Amino acid sequence: VTIRALTFHGKGDVRVESRPDPTPPDQDGAVLRVERAAICGSDLHLYHGDLPVPETGFAVGHEFVGEVVEVGSAVRDFRAGDRVLCAGVIGCGACAPCRGGHVVRCERRQTRVFGMSGALPGGQAEAVAVPGADHALRRIPEGVSVEQAVLLTDILPTAFYGAKGAEIRPGQTVAVIGLGPVGLLAVECAQLFGPARVLAIDRIPERLARAKALGAVPVHADRAAETVQGLTGGVGPDSVIEAVGADATIQLALQLVRVAGVVSVIGVNMNFAFPFPMPLALMKDLTFRIGICPVPELWDELVPLVQAGRLHPENVFTHRLALSEGSEAYRIFDEKRDGVLKVLLDPSR
Ligand code: NAD
Ligand code: ZN
Ligand code: ZN
Repeated sequence: VTIRALTFHGKGDVRVESRPDPTPPDQDGAVLRVERAAICGSDLHLYHGDLPVPETGFAVGHEFVGEVVEVGSAVRDFRAGDRVLCAGVIGCGACAPCRGGHVVRCERRQTRVFGMSGALPGGQAEAVAVPGADHALRRIPEGVSVEQAVLLTDILPTAFYGAKGAEIRPGQTVAVIGLGPVGLLAVECAQLFGPARVLAIDRIPERLARAKALGAVPVHADRAAETVQGLTGGVGPDSVIEAVGADATIQLALQLVRVAGVVSVIGVNMNFAFPFPMPLALMKDLTFRIGICPVPELWDELVPLVQAGRLHPENVFTHRLALSEGSEAYRIFDEKRDGVLKVLLDPSR
């Protein structure tokens, strides 16, 4: 038997192809029939050819939810029929940090993202194999919709992690650079910590308008430095959350932040030669945070916030397409066509 999966074939080339029906990777693993999968800005780094890949032809995607169809003999907490969400990033699942959800601090250095190589094929597919199921999966909680569950697999935890890393205190001013789905969710998450103002920077008018509707102050990227200076009396924001990953926007974050402020980078940047402005950082006495979000660690805090209606992440979905339209879905998302913000794929179609 085979399944259909969106597979990566090099820069700008993602196609639906048949792949063998997955089986549990080992006794701790499980197989999910995927119910919904989303495309992420991180998938675009792959799509643009910015990430090193050992091969091509693997299934892509790390944001998916589904139904458990098969479990290995050592899986304790899940069985066939459970509806679950799966962390987009996983560790070995066995060391102490992994068991606590800190999958990025895996002591066996097995931190991996689904759909970035053939070693861990992704979930933009009809079915996907999940290693370490007891640690990677969580039952879709009561009162959490399927679309909210998809966002709990990566970008809502990432946005929350960025906001926590910014150490926002009540009354402060925060700037968020980049208002893609991650940045817009970072605006929402930042507001949980009581800032007086969130300054939201991008150049796409609809995205600036969305940030404004969330209660942020929209700032056009072309005039970001002057505008933010003006709005903060020349001092700069107390913290900056960077949600783009470009050299220029990380530089901007370092430039904007006030003395003794915090820069929290959640955008992915793979530039080994990034020109870090050391004198600027030195003279500002600043804190610079960057990392991949340890997704499972944040579920206990985020699930109640979603259940209580304090966060409405599902509003980021603008496009709901069939898996069979996957190539076109990537093009729309990449070209930011048609008012797209976030694309959800239905693998049953
Ligand atoms: P996206 O491409 O939809 O959004 C990026 C936004 O940045 C766009 O709105 C774009 O207009 C804006 N932008 C680009 N250049 C800009 C500039 N010079 N000034 C201001 N705005 C600018 O992507 P997304 O899905 O929102 O993801 C954003 C980033 O978050 C990506 O780098 C992605 O890889 C990263 N990410 C990180 C993690 C993590 O664990 N750290 C997890 C998920 C996503
Ligand atoms: Zn993602
Ligand atoms: Zn581990």
